[in-house]
Amino acid sequence: MIEIKKGIPLIDQHDENGFYAGKFGGSYVPETLKKPIEDLTIAFEKLRYDESFLKERDYYFKNFIGTPTPFIKLENLTKHLGGANIWCKLVSKATGGAHKVYNATVHSLLAKRLGKKYIVGDTGAGYAGKMLSMAAAKFNLKCKIFMGTKDISRQAINCFSMKSFGAEIVPVDSGSKTLVDAVSECIRYWVANCDTTHMAIGSTVGPNIFIKICAWSTAQISKELKSQLISYFGSVPKKLKLLNCVGGGSSAAGFFNEFIDDENIELIGIEAGGPENGKHAAPLTNNCKIGVLHGAAQYVLQNSEGQIEETESIAAGLDYPGVSPLHCFLKEAGRARYTSASDEEALEAFKLVSRLEGFVSPSLEPSHAFAEAIKIAPKLSKDTILVVNSCGESSKDHNIIAEKLGYKL
Ligand SMILES: *Cc1c(COP(=O)(O)O)cnc(C)c1O
Repeated sequence: MIEIKKGIPLIDQHDENGFYAGKFGGSYVPETLKKPIEDLTIAFEKLRYDESFLKERDYYFKNFIGTPTPFIKLENLTKHLGGANIWCKLVSKATGGAHKVYNATVHSLLAKRLGKKYIVGDTGAGYAGKMLSMAAAKFNLKCKIFMGTKDISRQAINCFSMKSFGAEIVPVDSGSKTLVDAVSECIRYWVANCDTTHMAIGSTVGPNIFIKICAWSTAQISKELKSQLISYFGSVPKKLKLLNCVGGGSSAAGFFNEFIDDENIELIGIEAGGPENGKHAAPLTNNCKIGVLHGAAQYVLQNSEGQIEETESIAAGLDYPGVSPLHCFLKEAGRARYTSASDEEALEAFKLVSRLEGFVSPSLEPSHAFAEAIKIAPKLSKDTILVVNSCGESSKDHNIIAEKLGYKL
């Protein structure tokens, strides 16, 4: 059994080679990437303890992202389900409508400190690209977003945002013309231009240093939650369960971070179960084999030859064949429990939460977490507190939800 080292942040639980539990993560990168990654690692490990950098980060978390985001009780949903108390952390109220803005902001601030004028990133569904270009505009960085041509044609609204924020979208026409290829192209570009250019990866995936920067950024969410819990309840409640959807795993890692050492608290990650008979984006739930994706070892959907498989989910943000090594580690250590919700269950959860608690308006990703809350709450005692991270706002999904639910707009 893997032990979690007490008092050590989640991101630092790796060994000297960057592996969590001895086998997840690492940095599987070509020789040409070793130097830029080493430079970035040294810079980040210094800046994360640098008082003036932390002051600057906290200033922009407050004055750009708008933290702390609200923590509220869902009274109608609690009453309707008749069991545990259901609370919600409304991370969707952050600037841009989702948690990806934390990572984008920190990477932009890092780029400034490193004296880089340019920033590049990859995007699949377009949210990481949208958030990075929004942060880049705020911090006067020139931004390029690498995006597969298939994604460009199906994510027109996010492309519109990126363009209006002044970013250049670089179309990637190789391979499957989606996220996987966009990441590879982006990395290739960074290798050739790393003297002037900083690179951001949009979730807790990629070579070890990118996982660390991302989870360090989203950890803000659980720091806020902890002080909000203490201010409401006087202390962190004993019977507490935290629920968060898991795609790459950045919002869940940030949501769990402060609570890893307190084993009374149950941590629940919800993956995308996809459509009936679909290609599920749930490598943790389905006990997938370990493989290497985007420079890190992790549980990943693959065929018998080890080729990465495509996934299918109603929630664009969860449609990813791999998952963060941080969550592979938490699963291996038995510290977090992982399960999945289907497309159908997520839609039903969206419907119920919207009807009873309209202002929450979760996007389809956190609707997966609400689906699990709805499943377990009725069976739990009334003094149990469930907190769901509503990490994204639904307006981006209105077309698809309206179509699925047969609403005439
Ligand atoms: C991108 C995204 C996700 C999935 O990414 P994680 O890294 O798992 O957090 C989940 N929810 C929303 C709203 C997203 O935009």
